[in-house]
Amino acid sequence: MAIVGIDLGTTNSLVATWTADGPMLVPNALGESLTPSVVNIQAHEVSVGRSAQERLITRPEHTVAAFKRWMGTEKVTRLDGHGYRAEELSSLVLAQLKRDAEAHLDEPIDEAIVSVPAYFNDLQRKATLNAARLAGLHVERLVNEPTAAALAYGLGDVDEAQFLVFDLGGGTFDVSILDKYDNVMEVRATAGDNFLGGDDFRDILLDEICRRHAIERGRLAAVDVSRLLRFAEALKIELSSRQTVTYGFELPDRTLDGSIERAEFEAVAKPLLMRLRHPLERAISDARLDPAQIAQVVMVGGATRMPAVRALVARLFGRLPLTHLNPDHLVALGAAVQAGLKTRSSALEDVVMTDVCPYTLGISAYNSGEGRKSGELVTVPIIERNSVVPISRSDTFVTVSDRQERIDVEVYQGENLKPENNVHLGTLSIAVPPSKAGRESIDVRFTYDVNGALEVEVQVTSTGERHRRIFKNRADLAEGDLARRFSDLSGLKVAPRDQAENRLLIARAERIYAETLGDKRERVAEALTAFSKAIEDPRNAHPERQREQFSALLDRLETDVFRDFD
Ligand code: ADP
Ligand code: MG
Repeated sequence: MAIVGIDLGTTNSLVATWTADGPMLVPNALGESLTPSVVNIQAHEVSVGRSAQERLITRPEHTVAAFKRWMGTEKVTRLDGHGYRAEELSSLVLAQLKRDAEAHLDEPIDEAIVSVPAYFNDLQRKATLNAARLAGLHVERLVNEPTAAALAYGLGDVDEAQFLVFDLGGGTFDVSILDKYDNVMEVRATAGDNFLGGDDFRDILLDEICRRHAIERGRLAAVDVSRLLRFAEALKIELSSRQTVTYGFELPDRTLDGSIERAEFEAVAKPLLMRLRHPLERAISDARLDPAQIAQVVMVGGATRMPAVRALVARLFGRLPLTHLNPDHLVALGAAVQAGLKTRSSALEDVVMTDVCPYTLGISAYNSGEGRKSGELVTVPIIERNSVVPISRSDTFVTVSDRQERIDVEVYQGENLKPENNVHLGTLSIAVPPSKAGRESIDVRFTYDVNGALEVEVQVTSTGERHRRIFKNRADLAEGDLARRFSDLSGLKVAPRDQAENRLLIARAERIYAETLGDKRERVAEALTAFSKAIEDPRNAHPERQREQFSALLDRLETDVFRDFD
């Protein structure tokens, strides 16, 4: 029986298997290796992946994305009248990957190695194990994402060395320093920014497009904003491989014609690129290393395809990072390497720092919300429970409104996502120069010593001004009732696998229908009706022909945005 390796990502998930030729990715029912981590539940039927992603727009009350952020918390998402926790939603993704692997390998799979971020605490790791159990997968061990990435590059075979793993995904940025010795890969330090990823680059590019065409985002219909977001996402990706992109994007009352150069995008993205530097410097100094001692820099996550990100890392380290393997695939491939090693009973020890601080320490901040719309106040951990003490960690926060003059740093202790359910330790009120929302940032550093004293140091990035305060940690937080109630997932049906392509086409057509008007809309509606009828007709022997035609029509209706091909 095969063991698979799974990368359960915030944006995308993947499954891979170990073969005689090394690790191999397993394609899903659409023949793709990336399955968006999006779940749709309606009429008790679950669908996961791209068709669910399309329905984020057409059926938002039935669809959810980015739930990995809530692993190990009490947060419940209501879908189709039922409440689901992050581990249950994750279990639906895992179950889908399990079925894909079973279909591809043609054998039952009941064991997996699943990856988690190195900074995941005990609760988040337990939640991941629960998710696997709910999906019918036996998971004996988790692998840290940076370790998996290093394994994919064969760094598990190196005798002794230190590596830096730079992981820029859709919404999060993680830096880890790994120490390889004997048969052990140890995470020596982690740093990062929980609210910085590829989505922010897309958003800043969209801001620039709106500025150039004098568009006020607030005045657009919601469907046009989501179309623009998708356009900006595609534009950003084009700019990773082309120097200039010319576009023509249609809004109901006008067409946005223009072209943008990569260098122009990089200029507006400069503040984001600057924010990548902090965690890198912190991780290196926390690990008490000199950049010259780092043997390899491994680039992970789709957003590291941006040339500016690679250039920044090359400049900071004075050498080229490892980029020859696909950055989206590394973690899953590495998890499969670990699965292969496990079958041969020679799995690498993968350890996170041990001997620890008892509670999570963090501050409250507005999260960006799904699709970056509605922010709500949440606790952002800075020092995770179970971190080795003494420890020093920092994170960067930005202003949330225009001309904001102060940032109140509210310090909390506890494991609850809602700040009001945690113990409030105190406040540092920091003055910042008034500017556009998101332009000013502060670096918040927590240092926790063996005696339980917490030092909070805040530095305003633009002025360099520092504020400092010491808190005596209270050790009286009541242990919450951790007993988990799982709702019954077995009542849910799974969307049939052999219908995956049809389902995606229909979901996509419904989305395009929602986003268009007039003529186009009528053409979508007609084609959709004809297609639905054709695939339901039992006498139809060649549904693939209709699929091709329908898909070609949808392509014509929406992808004529980019005008040149250099
Ligand atoms: P996660 O680990 O959060 O699941 P991924 O590693 O799959 O995320 O990364 C997703 C991000 O990578 C998205 O923001 C996506 O836009 C970005 N991305 C993927 N390909 C490219 C590319 N060619 N150029 C720029 N960004 C890219
Ligand atoms: Mg990832």
